[in-house]
Amino acid sequence: MSDHIRLYIPGPIEVSPKSFEAMCKPMIGHRSKDFQALYGGMQERLQTLFETKQPVFLSTSSAWGIMEGALRNLVAKKVLCCGNGAFSDKWVDVAQRCGKQAEGLMFEWGQPVDPETVREKLSTGEFDAMTLIHNETSTGVTSPLAEIAAVVREFEDVMLIVDTVSSFSAEPTPVDINGIDVMLTGSQKALALPPGLALFTVSDAAFARAETIKDRGYYFDFLEFKKNQEKDMTPSTPCIHTINGLNAKLDDIFNEGVENRYARHQRLNGLVADWVTNNGFEFFAPEGYRSIGLTCIKNNREIDVSRFNQLLIENHSLTINGGYGKIKGITFRVSNMGDETDESIAGVLAAMDDSLAKL
Ligand SMILES: *Cc1c(COP(=O)(O)O)cnc(C)c1O
Repeated sequence: MSDHIRLYIPGPIEVSPKSFEAMCKPMIGHRSKDFQALYGGMQERLQTLFETKQPVFLSTSSAWGIMEGALRNLVAKKVLCCGNGAFSDKWVDVAQRCGKQAEGLMFEWGQPVDPETVREKLSTGEFDAMTLIHNETSTGVTSPLAEIAAVVREFEDVMLIVDTVSSFSAEPTPVDINGIDVMLTGSQKALALPPGLALFTVSDAAFARAETIKDRGYYFDFLEFKKNQEKDMTPSTPCIHTINGLNAKLDDIFNEGVENRYARHQRLNGLVADWVTNNGFEFFAPEGYRSIGLTCIKNNREIDVSRFNQLLIENHSLTINGGYGKIKGITFRVSNMGDETDESIAGVLAAMDDSLAKL
C-alpha cells in the first residue's frame, strides 16, 4: 500500500518523488543569471514539445489565468466560445466577466466540437476570436484540432485560442502547423507537476492584435511576457521551484522520447479501455473522440460510484473521480496521464476489479 492516496483523478495527478526532489533546489533570484540559464535552457525543448518556433512563456498561475488573459489580450469585437463540457462552457462566462462580447457555440456534453458548425458561425463575420478546448476533461472528449484549426484559418481576423491543458504532452498538439494564435496548458495534468504553472505560446498575429487592445491589465499582458522573455525572464516573480520541476520533467520527456511518451499514453489508455469493455461499461465519448490521457466511463451498470471510490481509497490508497458537475455519478473518470507505467495502471485496474466485486 502506498503511504498516501495516489491520484487517478484527471488532475492534479501523481507527482513523482523525483519531481519533488528536483523542486527542492536552493532558491535563486528571478533576475539572476541562474534563472536566465534555467528558463533559457528549457526554451528549445519547450518549443519542440509545442511544435513551434515562437517562444514558450511561463505564467505563475493555473491555466485559467491564461484562459482569461488570452481574452483580455485578443478580443476587441466578440469571441465565439466552443462549449462541450464544464471547462469549455465556463469560458463564455469568463469572457463576459471580463466585459467582452461573447457567444457560446454549445454542443451536447459528450460530443466533440463540429468544424462545420464552427464555419457557419464564423461566417457571420461577428467574431474576432474563438476559444476551443482540445480535450474536454470533464467528459473525456477530444475535438478534432487540425480540422477545426483549418476552418478558423479561413477567417483571417479570427484569433484561435486553444486550451490543451489535459492533452499537452500526452499526444501531439502542434502549434505552428495548425496556425494556433494562443495555445496554453497547465502543469498539473499530463506534465505531472504540482499546480500553479501555466505554459503558453502567442503568434505574431496575436501580438499585433494585443498591441491594439486597451485594458490588457498587467499580470497577463502578453506584451510584458514577450519583452521579458527576450531576456529569459518572466514579468513578475515566478514559481521557481515548479520551474525547476519542469526542467527535470523535460529531461525525463526527452530521455524517454516524445514519440515514446505519446505511444505510452495511448497504450495505457488502451488498458483502461479494455477494463471498461470487459466489465460491461460504456464510454461517454463517441468512438474516435476519446481522450488519450483519461477515460470518462458511462455508468451504464448504475454502480454506486461514490462507494466504489471509497473502497479504492480505503483498501488500495488510490482515488479516481466520480464524475464532474452535472454528470457526477452517471459517469466516472480514470486518469492515465503523466508518469504512469503498464504496471501502475495494471495495479489501478486490479484495484478497480476488487472494489467492483465488493460493491
Ligand atoms: C484542469 C483544466 C483546466 C483548469 O485548469 P486550472 O489549472 O484549474 O486553471 C482548464 N481546462 C482544462 C481542459 C482542464 O482539464
